[in-house]
Amino acid sequence: MPTSPKKDLTLDPENWDQMRQLGHQMIDDLFDYWQSIRDQKIWKPIPAEVKEFLDQPIPEQGQDPAKVYEEFKQNIFAFNKGNVHPRFFAWIQGTGTPMGVLADLLASGMNPNTTIGEHSAMYVDRQVVNWCKELMNFPSEASGILVSGGSMANITALTVARNSFGEEQIRQRGLKAASAQLVLYCSVETHSCIQKAAEIIGLGTDSVRKIGVNSNYEMKVEELEQQIQQDIQEGLLPFAVVGTSGTVNTGAIDPMEDLLAVSRKYGLWFHVDGAYGALAKLDAKYAERLKAIEEADSLAFDLHKWLYVPYEVGCTLIRDAKKHRDAFAITPNYLLQESRGLSGGLDSINNYGFELSRGFKALKIWMSLKEHGRAKYAQMIAQNNRQAEYLGMLVAQTPELELTAPVSMSITCFRMVKQGLSEGQLRDLNREILLRLQEEGIASPSSTILNGKYTLRVANVNQRTRMEDMDLLVREVVRIGNSV
Ligand SMILES: *Cc1c(COP(=O)(O)O)cnc(C)c1O
Repeated sequence: MPTSPKKDLTLDPENWDQMRQLGHQMIDDLFDYWQSIRDQKIWKPIPAEVKEFLDQPIPEQGQDPAKVYEEFKQNIFAFNKGNVHPRFFAWIQGTGTPMGVLADLLASGMNPNTTIGEHSAMYVDRQVVNWCKELMNFPSEASGILVSGGSMANITALTVARNSFGEEQIRQRGLKAASAQLVLYCSVETHSCIQKAAEIIGLGTDSVRKIGVNSNYEMKVEELEQQIQQDIQEGLLPFAVVGTSGTVNTGAIDPMEDLLAVSRKYGLWFHVDGAYGALAKLDAKYAERLKAIEEADSLAFDLHKWLYVPYEVGCTLIRDAKKHRDAFAITPNYLLQESRGLSGGLDSINNYGFELSRGFKALKIWMSLKEHGRAKYAQMIAQNNRQAEYLGMLVAQTPELELTAPVSMSITCFRMVKQGLSEGQLRDLNREILLRLQEEGIASPSSTILNGKYTLRVANVNQRTRMEDMDLLVREVVRIGNSV
């Protein structure tokens, strides 16, 4: 007989009161951080000793929780990225909200693996997916799944598109079942995750046709149709068109209605990458142009961008729920469902995507939508768009600045210009402006290159931004630019 040890080990705190107090302290510190964020520098360079501290071997022995938290505060908390700050405009990154964060804490505390079984999180997840359909005006019979983000949402949709192509049984037999190469269409402005997805699902880079764009960076439909016809003539198999609602560079919107019509005409799957901008549907100004999204076969969009929910969460919606399930459903012996008890309840979410274990990411969306309501989110999204337009107007009124793309949704691209500077010198000037804005802790735009022009890029999915931040940004760009 093995002897029982004197004391069973556990990872629960040795001193519950101390841990509880520490937890309260963490919440207090977070609230102080959020409440004072406007007055703090947006970004600080990470000192060498901090980088060194974060490059150590695995600790063999534990230490006091309070000490661990202290180390976090000094070395991690203090050097945050800054996307919680009102003047963070780099890439396309959301701010999060206090309620969203607290919901994540609760979700993590409950810690249900939200894939299978009869428990509340499954119903919250289903509720949130249904709300996502309502937000996007998708039919209630459509299906959907919450995933980690836009990239995952896009590959999930494209996998369904691929597996449900024709009568080829690609899921069983692989791509060799198709009589010829499948071809996917998107524009040169499409996000890189679409190409990666095409590579991963076996199409390969060569079968991604990147169609040209007009001066507004929107896909040229005539060119799309010509390319489809040419591919058909060459015996290839066009299978999907990807339209983008809000390109990552300039917020451009592909002509959704035309893409839908071309897709229907040639019997192709119409997918919309709305990771950033599908939610612009909630702004009356864009509702009409984005109407055709509702007819798409699939839609990917992020909630950690324009629903301001903390990272990570995105959503895939699929019009034909059967095709969705047929693409992923599989029931190994260890995942049998029953009609009663813990393994009863709703269809396993694993039947709708690749990931098995899933956190309770639905809760932060559920609590946020409950807290603010759809109408408030519509106002917030419209507010970001108006702020971007206001910035565009300020740029147009400022002789030292020029717009480098039309303002679309909440993205404003511009640069400083000076008489007599070459394209290379303008690039150096604007890069210096960008770096100093960040290094001085003032604001964080990012950059891109549009038609060969290095450009400052302000993408605003920030729930803390005010109009006055746009005035400040223009003032600071001109000040720094004049001092370079
Ligand atoms: C952000 C973005 C993606 C990728 O989404 P992640 O959530 O970062 O994975 C894809 N497409 C577009 C248009 C995006 O803006």
